[in-house]
Amino acid sequence: MENYYPLQVAKKHVNKYQQGYPLLHKEWMMNWSKKITESTLLKLVSPTGEFIAYGYAGKQNKGDGWLFSFEKKAPSLLDNLRARLKEAIEIRQTYFADETTTAFRLFNGEGDGFGGLTIDYYDGFLLLQWYSLGLYEFKKELLPHLFDLPFVKGIYEKRRFEQEEAADQEDFVGGEKAPEPLLVKENGMTFAVYLDDGWMTGIFLDQKDVRRELSLGLTAGKTVLNTFSYTGAFSVAALYGGAVHTTSVDAAKRTIAKTREQFEVNHLDSAAQTIVVEDVFQYFKYALRKGKQFDVVICDPPSFARTKKTTFQVASDYPELLRQLIPLTATGGTMIVSTNYAGFGMKAFKKMIHSVCQEETRAYRITQDFSLPTDFRTTKAFPEGNYLKVVMIQFD
Ligand code: SAH
Repeated sequence: MENYYPLQVAKKHVNKYQQGYPLLHKEWMMNWSKKITESTLLKLVSPTGEFIAYGYAGKQNKGDGWLFSFEKKAPSLLDNLRARLKEAIEIRQTYFADETTTAFRLFNGEGDGFGGLTIDYYDGFLLLQWYSLGLYEFKKELLPHLFDLPFVKGIYEKRRFEQEEAADQEDFVGGEKAPEPLLVKENGMTFAVYLDDGWMTGIFLDQKDVRRELSLGLTAGKTVLNTFSYTGAFSVAALYGGAVHTTSVDAAKRTIAKTREQFEVNHLDSAAQTIVVEDVFQYFKYALRKGKQFDVVICDPPSFARTKKTTFQVASDYPELLRQLIPLTATGGTMIVSTNYAGFGMKAFKKMIHSVCQEETRAYRITQDFSLPTDFRTTKAFPEGNYLKVVMIQFD
């Protein structure tokens, strides 16, 4: 049996953990000590010594480790992780069977019962994202199991925790190397992705339901403004949906080449679309001056961003962003606003939207909302894990 450090949780947090809350916060513990280092195995108990759960120590931005088994029988961390992974694969068989979708989340950390690691499937290639050194230390033992999976051609990884060594280590782990770009499918659309090119791959898989909705005709005959457009994935979906024209705006220099590439791999004429490299707040001033309006306006900012001209923080600046977007939305038009900021839930996001829209003289109504797609499995015990909020608002 592996050795588990007995960790006593303060009385007022016992209930939360007994109900399955999986994230460890050291300040909620009575005896967190220096003896606990990355990857120490932990046994969480109540102040009276009653068993609650098993976990491991792993510092990440959210907390200090994860609980992975609420069953009293002492488990092995790796056996547990392998069992959760097996279940995760089983319940995603519909994704494997769907030939029109070859990229999806295969394992969603705590949502699949084991926090600290996510695995995305990109047409035979796995992209592992490790959120703490604590779990990363089990990598060597987990890898053979992953390479044994019949659908795995090659493996890449991103280390999303603070590291002492220079961060220029390779993302390629082993097996076959993926082509660059690797072309994946999502609901019949094609996306060019790069598994070894910085933090992002070219597509955010968590927005698949929104892209699908766009592609199914929401944008038919419409003009579309896509702000914070990154590689223009929403613009691609809008064109599949019959949009007559898209304008994609993003401050990053890579935008033009990346967005053109997404259009081209879908045999869409990139020269017929507008791609603007500019701070969105500068672009708004220009568009307002020119009296530009769009039938569909998409807004998907990062939680925090700094450009040469502006600093944007979702928590405080989203209302102002909305105020600037509304005048650019045509009569009868739709705004699609999104955030992945975990600091507030859908209810608070909608409340913010209502408070801004009520300042306007135009009537509006919320027509639809979206959160994470089913492959980004979440658990009720950890509602913060359901971070995505996308709301569609129609204006008169
Ligand atoms: N909507 C995109 C993902 C957006 S990622 C998609 O579906 O794929 C966030 C993007 O916002 C990044 O590409 C970043 O370059 C851009 N960004 C951040 N601050 C910005 C600003 N002030 N103006 C324009 N783009 C900005």
